[in-house]
Parts: sequence; structure tokens; C-alpha cells
Amino acid sequence: MGTPLPKTWVKVRQEITKLQDQGIDYIPFADYQTICRKYNLDDITISSLSQLFHDLGVFFHFQNNIKLRNTIFLNHEYVTQGVYKIFDDKNIIESNGEFTEQDLIEVLQNTPYEHKQAELLSLCEEFKILFKKGKQYLAPQLFEEKKPDVDWDFTNNLHYKYSYGFMPKGIVSYLIVAMHEKIYQHHYWRYGVELCYEDTFALVEEKRLGKRNQIDIRIRGRKKNEFLTIIREQLNGINNKFTNLQIKEEVGCICEECIVSEKPYLFDLDRIEKAINKRILKLQCQNSFINVDIEKILGYYDFKKLDEDRITKNELRKGFDRIHNHLRKQDSHLREQDKILINISSQIDQLETDLLSNLSEILKAEFETIKLEIDNLSKENGEAIAHELMTSIAKEKDKMTTQQREILEKLNQSSENWQAKVRFSIPVLKQLGVDIGCEYELNNIVKGIGTKLKSWLERSSSSSYPQAMRDFK
Ligand SMILES: [Zn+2]
Repeated sequence: MGTPLPKTWVKVRQEITKLQDQGIDYIPFADYQTICRKYNLDDITISSLSQLFHDLGVFFHFQNNIKLRNTIFLNHEYVTQGVYKIFDDKNIIESNGEFTEQDLIEVLQNTPYEHKQAELLSLCEEFKILFKKGKQYLAPQLFEEKKPDVDWDFTNNLHYKYSYGFMPKGIVSYLIVAMHEKIYQHHYWRYGVELCYEDTFALVEEKRLGKRNQIDIRIRGRKKNEFLTIIREQLNGINNKFTNLQIKEEVGCICEECIVSEKPYLFDLDRIEKAINKRILKLQCQNSFINVDIEKILGYYDFKKLDEDRITKNELRKGFDRIHNHLRKQDSHLREQDKILINISSQIDQLETDLLSNLSEILKAEFETIKLEIDNLSKENGEAIAHELMTSIAKEKDKMTTQQREILEKLNQSSENWQAKVRFSIPVLKQLGVDIGCEYELNNIVKGIGTKLKSWLERSSSSSYPQAMRDFK
């Protein structure tokens, strides 16, 4: 997270802030390009920087939307007020969020948005708060509150439930927008929707019952698993836009009693996973007390895919990844250094693991203490001790493996990184059986650690050599 931005980027940011301070609501993309070119940024950088500023909330720029790519919205307030103009309009509210372009032209007449109607509509679509169906625009947040007559057969349903500690407003509205192409007939209302996918149907409802906030999903038809996966992908994407949501997922029991019930017993997804990890094959339904095969519960949906989309990253993270990638590309030298360091660090890990694998618990603990003491050294003392250890090793260079010699050379090239040098030296010293003497004259702390290390190396030499060392013994 602490990646510093290049100076030129900061300059661009300052110019943007200046425009914002002047009360300018939006500028053409070309103007932003002109600013960036003043600081010699190329087209690729200009575009990734704009994406970054968008992700960080500096301004709005939807560069992949053909209707929005030529405008940079500098003022968030301008955009939100515009959205409110639509959502607070008496006529649009009365028509339960359904309106045409002509209606919108009337709503925005004599407002600062008179010449930005198309952009405002596209922004609402980007924010996933409305969608287009034929010539109509629909805003689910304004749908009728009352559930329409939906004839639903509760038997043989796949029942899935999301429970939220805190459920942000409008989760189902966002889902309706995201999945509007699958809405079945006119079966939608403010808190729910019936969706249809091939010959499979899903009833999704938002339920707020006191402190229990839930999204309830029932699916019936031939492709229950597939449809749940599609819905979950969308819903998880929406949930990930909010930070710190506590969400529990449950799946309905399919025992003979539950499968025909409107309220099946619900198994916690985490508990199912725990059971699987413990190689438990059956779980008991707490309604019927029948033991149910986990496989059969899971047979109702695709478990593997569930795991995969748990890893979805949130939007901001993507923004930072983008900067990071950009910086890497800009500085290929840095990239090479990174690679070497990652490589070295994993090799040192391996050396240390090998070293510790054959030691007694006492020696392991002592080693950890010595390491901790070394970690706590000041830079100056750390470098001193690293220098002593590396010098002792260098004398026995011929006995080292090619790989070790490579690491030694790379570490010697960089004056930084004394921690890596110390971490590398200790296992190798033991392996080579080098007497480090006790030549640390620098100061008492370093000398103290040196003495400890020396006696530790001597004692640990009496135990058998780890696998990796046998090659040259
Ligand atoms: Zn059951």
C-alpha cells in the first residue's frame, strides 16, 4: 500500500485539485490529456493514471464506456445531485421508477444537466442503479414495495441463504440491475425478483426481520447448480463493493422432510467445509434428525466454483495492483532486482528449514532467540554482524554448492539487506562447520550475540547433518 507515486503523477493530481477548487464540474478528456502531456506522460500512462484516479475517487472517468469516455467528472457533488434529480422526481417516483428518455428531458430542463442527459443516464447505468428495457428505463430502488403475485412451488427447491450482520441498502436492487436480462415476466418489486435461466427459475428476496438481514434464494428446475453459481457470482461482486460486511452463507437441507418443506434446515457453509476437511461424510439435519450425505447436499450446487469466487478482489485493490504493475513496467531494473530477491529469499527459507529439521527442540528454540536478538539490532550493529558472518563464510567458498555461491555473490553486491545476509550465513556456517571464532570487537551487543552464536553452532554440529548437506560431507 505504501508505494510512492511518481512525482509527475502528483503534479497532475495537483492540477486536477486546482480545477476542482475553481468549481469546475467536468472537463473534456482532451483537457486532461493536455495536462498530463505537460509532464511528458505517454498515452498508456495517461490512461492508467486516469483509471487510478477513478479508483481512488479523485474523479469519475469511465474510459470503457463510449458515452462517457470523453468526459472527466471532477465534481462528485455534481454527479450525485444529478442522480438525485432523477430519483427525487415526483413523476418518476409515482411511476415506480419507470421512465422514458422524453420524461428525463423534461425532468432535467433548466437544470445544470440540461446538456448532459445522455451522460447522466450512462452514469446511472455505470453505478448499477438503473437499466434499460426496450424504450423504458427502470430504477429498482423505486419499484413498488409490494410483492406481486408470484406462484411458486416450494418443493424440490435448492434453498440458499445469505445472512448479513449489517445489510447495506439496495443489495437486491443492484442484483436486479445486474441480472435484468433474466427477469421473469413482470415479477419484480423493490425487495425481490423472479429470475429465469433456460428452464430454471429463481426467487430472490431481501428480508429484514429485526436484526436478521437476509437474502433468500430459492431455485427450482433442471439447472439449479448452474443458476446458483451465476447468481452468487453477481451477488458476491456486489457484496465486495462494500467493505467489512460480515456474511454467513447457508444451504438448505435436502432430506426427505426438508425437500418438501418451505423452511428446510439450513447448513452453514463454513461447517460443511469444516466437515469435509475432517473427512466427515454425513451431517445431521436438525429438523428431521436424518443423516444426510454431504455430497448430496453439495450435489445441488457446484462447490468448487463457490471456493473460487471467494477470492474475488475488491475494486480498490485492483487500483493499487495497477499502480504496482505500472511502476514495475517503468523500471525493468527494479523488476529484475525484485525477482532476484524473491528467489534468494525462498532459497534462504529452504536452507533454514533444512537446518532446523534435524535439531532438537531446545536448539531450535535457542536459534529462534538468537535470530530474534539479531532482528532487534540497529542497522549499524546488524551490518557489523552480517559482515563478520559473511567474511567467515567467504573463506570456505570452495566447499559451497553452486547455488549457495550464487546467493553469496548476489548478497555481497547489495550493501543493504543485512538481515538476508545473516539469515543466509547461519545455516551455511553450520553446514560448512566453520569456526566463527569470536572476533566481534565492535561492541558488547554484537560480541554477545557472536558468542552465543558460536556456542550454538558448536552444539548443533553434534546433531546429524540435514539432508541438503550430505552432498559434500
Ligand atoms: Zn432436513
